[in-house]
Amino acid sequence: MYAFPPVEIGSNSNVLSTVQEVAVAVLIDAGRIFLGQRRTTARYGGVWEFPGGKVENGETPVDALVRELREELGIVFFNPRYLGTSEHVYADGGTFRVWYYLVDKWFGGLRTDLWEQVVWVHPDELSSYAMFEANRSIIPAITASIEGEDERFMRIALGEAERAAARGEIPVGCVITCEGAIIARSHNRTEERRAATAHAELLAIAQALEHRRSKWLEGCTLYVTLEPCPMCAGALVLARIERVVFAAHDPKAGACETLYTITNDRRLNHRVRVRGGLLAEQSQSLLEAFFRQRRP
Ligand code: ZN
Repeated sequence: MYAFPPVEIGSNSNVLSTVQEVAVAVLIDAGRIFLGQRRTTARYGGVWEFPGGKVENGETPVDALVRELREELGIVFFNPRYLGTSEHVYADGGTFRVWYYLVDKWFGGLRTDLWEQVVWVHPDELSSYAMFEANRSIIPAITASIEGEDERFMRIALGEAERAAARGEIPVGCVITCEGAIIARSHNRTEERRAATAHAELLAIAQALEHRRSKWLEGCTLYVTLEPCPMCAGALVLARIERVVFAAHDPKAGACETLYTITNDRRLNHRVRVRGGLLAEQSQSLLEAFFRQRRP
């Protein structure tokens, strides 16, 4: 599980009997979270934080976030997902309020002059970074939101893998989502179809294309219980899928991270963001049980 550290808000010295409002982005790429380093004073030097900033008069939190991310990082994002608000009231009456948004889609490259001051960390690693001053945990809502969605869909894909096993097929299941809704689900059917290419991903991609009445699957995420093979990784690129989340790595055919990195090859005309290893143990044990049964 993602374990966000306790993060303190309101370490700014100018919070005195006023209301400070800040909007921040939990910027995520390939399952990793963006942190920028703040080096303002000796006291707060070397502290990492989410990008974002103060909500100015007349702005909504989202307005402020759009402005700050354009100024700080040089990106324009779309479809931010509201994660929650956290508020801390000080003894002197000052209030510090933070709006959190999940941002996982944006235009423009992050400003490269910033590279020395930023890190991408796995959510599990966040606790090893000093973030603000610690006295208050703001994170449970964020944790649930980010982790929850991927995990929820992967469990459905695992259900598809179980259905495959029940039909004597190698247990691999797949789900495709668009804006948080499932638009296709399938499992491996190579035995039933007597076709070596009837992999869960290809079948689900065909369904999703039909559902969208489109040639491409821009903005969609594909969840699959085993790392895609070269054929399926190629199909993900051709279909312009935005993101793939897979469970177990495949040492024999994995083409996203293990043997090849087809989904992230700059020579091809589309790249797919990859998150691997989610609920890998569950997928692995389905596969192992299946092969144990087949070869007594
Ligand atoms: Zn495949």
